Amino acid sequence: MTKTIYPGQTIGIIGGGQLGRMMALAAKEAGFKIAVLDPSMESPCGQVADIRIVAPYNDETALEELAEVSDVITYEFENIDYEGLKRLTEIAYVPQGAELVRITQNRITEKAEIRKANVPVAEYIIATSPLELNAQIDEIGFPSIVKTAFGGYDGKGQVMLHNKEDLPLADPLFEHGACVAEAYVPFTKEISVIVQRNGNGETYCLPVGENIHKHHILHETIVPARVSDIILTQATEAAQQIADHLQLVGTLAVEMFVLEDDTIVINELAPRPHNSGHYSIEGCTISQFHQHIRAICGWPLRKPALFQPTVMVNVLGEHVVPLSKAILKYPNWSIHLYGKDEAKTKRKMGHVTILTDDINKTLKEIKHSGIWSE
Ligand code: AMP
Repeated sequence: MTKTIYPGQTIGIIGGGQLGRMMALAAKEAGFKIAVLDPSMESPCGQVADIRIVAPYNDETALEELAEVSDVITYEFENIDYEGLKRLTEIAYVPQGAELVRITQNRITEKAEIRKANVPVAEYIIATSPLELNAQIDEIGFPSIVKTAFGGYDGKGQVMLHNKEDLPLADPLFEHGACVAEAYVPFTKEISVIVQRNGNGETYCLPVGENIHKHHILHETIVPARVSDIILTQATEAAQQIADHLQLVGTLAVEMFVLEDDTIVINELAPRPHNSGHYSIEGCTISQFHQHIRAICGWPLRKPALFQPTVMVNVLGEHVVPLSKAILKYPNWSIHLYGKDEAKTKRKMGHVTILTDDINKTLKEIKHSGIWSE
């Protein structure tokens, strides 16, 4: 049953990273209180929360404590223990449920559900051992990409195979359990759609973002995506179809490949606000974080509209010092830093959002700033 949660009540968040922090900041604007469960005392979300429960994400007593202090519970990442989350749904109000986490935790169930929603994914096979992979690989051919079914992100737990001789490269992946092998998709662009839905079935998508990766990590999101209107429509419809099929409550990020023939293939789903939606904080009439809070609190959703073309660029550990030195030079840049103490190389530390009338000029400005040189 959908409940309405009001300002003054407490939103519990499992996970204290930057997504939790930005959810919390949005919620606090409306006067909600925040409780966060994270193993670290000074997590990005913990720094802005009212109540901190410092324990591992799957600690049963800590989850019970979170249930006790929260009027509604959400999560900021999908790798939480499904059984623990399911138990939580029995003792607390978790409008997103546990099912979406179960589905998206595992590439096998995720792909099966996308297909059931009648939306295309790359051709794939499922293998539980190198032997099974060997036996089936001809069904998808080469090049192909083998991915662990559980637990991979940002290109981790993946191996590209160019021919039969490469097959042994995938052997170590099976130490982590079953794998999927996908046909390589010769994409021209990667895009994503953030779709958000409340318990009454009200659904909105953010404007489609175009994603540029560097070393498998998101580097820039450009909005609107520089693709045809046909792709924009297909992408939005596909995201809506998946959201309806899954009876989504909350937020789902749908990552897609664009092909030369103006079609799309879904790559993967994330059941939470997404790095490629950060642009919406300044770029849209409602951000993915505000909309997420509205959705889980049973509020009516707002139609997001883009104020102006927008570029978001990620700030990794190695970019923090050069960015600080450049802040005074770029008054139009909105600076976000997540309050993480250690600026490790490749660690996501923040992002910069730039609203612009000229995407190409802004992309050049980012490049020539020298902050994001290799
Ligand atoms: P993933 O962790 O599944 O998002 O994959 C990370 C990145 O690897 C994607 O953003 C793509 O750039 C690339 N990739 C993954 N799967 C495929 C595929 N089937 N075909 C081509 N590139 C892929």
